[in-house]
Amino acid sequence: MTAHSAAPNSTSSRSRSSRSRSSRFDDARFIDAAADLGPIATRIVPIGVLTTYRVGGSAAIMARPRSVDDLLAIAATMRRFELPAVVIGRGSNMLVADAGFGGIAISLADMAADHRIEDADVVAGASVALPQLARRVVAAGLTGFEWAVGVPGSVGGAVRMNAGGHGSDMSACLVDIAIVDLHIAVSCRLAASRLGLRFRGSDLADHQVVVDARLRFAPGDRSLSEAELNEIVRWRREHQPGGQNAGSVFVNPIPGELSAGELIDRVGLRGTVLGSASVSDKHANFIQGSNGGSAADVVALIESVRARVAAETGFVLRSEVRLVGFDDVEVDVNPGVDVNPGVDVNPGVDVNPGVDATVGRVDEGDGTGGPA
Ligand SMILES: Cc1cc2nc3c(=O)[nH]c(=O)nc-3n(C[C@H](O)[C@H](O)[C@H](O)COP(=O)(O)OP(=O)(O)OC[C@H]3O[C@@H](n4cnc5c(N)ncnc54)[C@H](O)[C@@H]3O)c2cc1C
Repeated sequence: MTAHSAAPNSTSSRSRSSRSRSSRFDDARFIDAAADLGPIATRIVPIGVLTTYRVGGSAAIMARPRSVDDLLAIAATMRRFELPAVVIGRGSNMLVADAGFGGIAISLADMAADHRIEDADVVAGASVALPQLARRVVAAGLTGFEWAVGVPGSVGGAVRMNAGGHGSDMSACLVDIAIVDLHIAVSCRLAASRLGLRFRGSDLADHQVVVDARLRFAPGDRSLSEAELNEIVRWRREHQPGGQNAGSVFVNPIPGELSAGELIDRVGLRGTVLGSASVSDKHANFIQGSNGGSAADVVALIESVRARVAAETGFVLRSEVRLVGFDDVEVDVNPGVDVNPGVDVNPGVDVNPGVDATVGRVDEGDGTGGPA
């Protein structure tokens, strides 16, 4: 095990940032923007605790839209006050800066928490949790989504990240999505082929909100699928650590052939500690945070692992973890999917799964339990 010394000043920089946070977010621009949004907005909401890292600060504004019209109102407020926005799904692939996020954090929990099954198609709201949906798909006698029982994200986050595992991913079942582009204030449906889905990524950008997704499966054997669900949950418990993390940090450089974890092990970084963050002893591609720890330590350890692996193996690893509010860290700036109003756009489409009386709500507490 390699032990690094703790990042200098990590505690004092935390308290400094929480002092500056309140003054920064008390700016008139944020106050006026929240007033502009009305009852769907709350000022200065801790969002780090909403992520599976459970570290990091607050959002200047948290918005909980209840409809596509509310999302379009957020688009207008963003433009009026020149504010960025980011959607928070289940926060299982996200790290929020200790100083927080100076923009509008959007939760779709009040508008996209339902799903409906239409023969072999499942239309799921963006905030539906993957493990619960995987179980519902199997219960409906369909196969092709068993892998998702082990991924603790939401449907929206899974589309954005092209989440996957156990030999499959979202691109294998995704037909199309309902999307709201907050930059051009357009809502439409887009075919999966338009999203630039690739290994653990897509062309979707922070201003492009997935509202629901249509997934297509094949008829299956329910008992075989249930056995597969159980096996996946067992495998995850055995091989992956619990605690505060975002799953695998780095994308495998050669999917199916060379994993990021192998490279991290090759350079001897398993178990490395940096301040409040550490490389998991159980899985070298998991970087753990800790209670009362800082996002700065997590990001510093990610950078340090990346630098060591690059220096010693020549592989430059790409982090899967979305960084929110890190103004000083180079973030992958992505122009987004081309939402071309001349092609696929149907602004009149009903993208609110909540209005259909036949939809089923996916309950909390129906998940896999334990670490995914
Ligand atoms: C223990 C553990 C195991 C994991 N295992 C896997 C695995 O096997 N395979 C895998 O692929 N991932 C895995 N992950 C990572 C994570 O669960 C997935 O990437 C998941 O799809 C993220 O979904 P989320 O809702 O948590 O997204 P968040 O973390 O909330 O957000 C991730 C990104 O998606 C964006 N986003 C979220 N919702 C929307 C939306 N509605 N519209 C537009 N953008 C949105 C966010 O803005 C952000 O950029 C694991 C994580 C953990 C903690």
